[in-house]
Amino acid sequence: MLAADFGHLERDIKMLNDSACDWIHLDVMDGVFVPNISFGFPVMQAMAKAARKPLDVHLMIEHPEKFIPEVKALGAHLMSVHQEACPHLHRIIEQIKSAGMKAGIVLNPATPLYTIEEVLNQVDLILLMSVNPGFGGQKFIPQTLGKIQRLRKMLDDARSDALIEIDGGVSRTNAAQLFEAGADVLVAGSAIFNAPDPIAEINALKA
Ligand code: ZN
Repeated sequence: MLAADFGHLERDIKMLNDSACDWIHLDVMDGVFVPNISFGFPVMQAMAKAARKPLDVHLMIEHPEKFIPEVKALGAHLMSVHQEACPHLHRIIEQIKSAGMKAGIVLNPATPLYTIEEVLNQVDLILLMSVNPGFGGQKFIPQTLGKIQRLRKMLDDARSDALIEIDGGVSRTNAAQLFEAGADVLVAGSAIFNAPDPIAEINALKA
């Protein structure tokens, strides 16, 4: 939703409801953990009201544990928090799951995979940032491909069912490569909302 037209959020969410997209991804920024502010709960409540697809809430904020009840109240399917913002990762994953949501962990491009080794069987999803978080419309960092392959192997070795999600610079030029490297979920913003026909662009990405 970061790349949507904020003057026409309801229109854009209705477009997604009618599209082949699986989830609606919400990027929350606090101006502290990342150098930008996106939108907060009142705006997300309006989005949730219009949405007919599962909400995938990605919190790029400090102290995400404070907002578990608010994210749950949105009816979110999945809540993801950054490894870099959570010294007590095991605890927050349990808290998110106890609240009845799927739990995801996010790694910035420079954060190594070994930092999440101990929670591979606890989480539902691992989101690898393929740009440095804070802004939409950035260029895909190519080193992400090798990181996806290594994470796929780690998950297979640990017999973990966690999904691999990729966020940042995803477009039809790299979607197939990301999928082949082992990604399960692709987040696309600018690629969809800047396309002349967003519905056709979503179909092209899924194909
Ligand atoms: Zn995101």
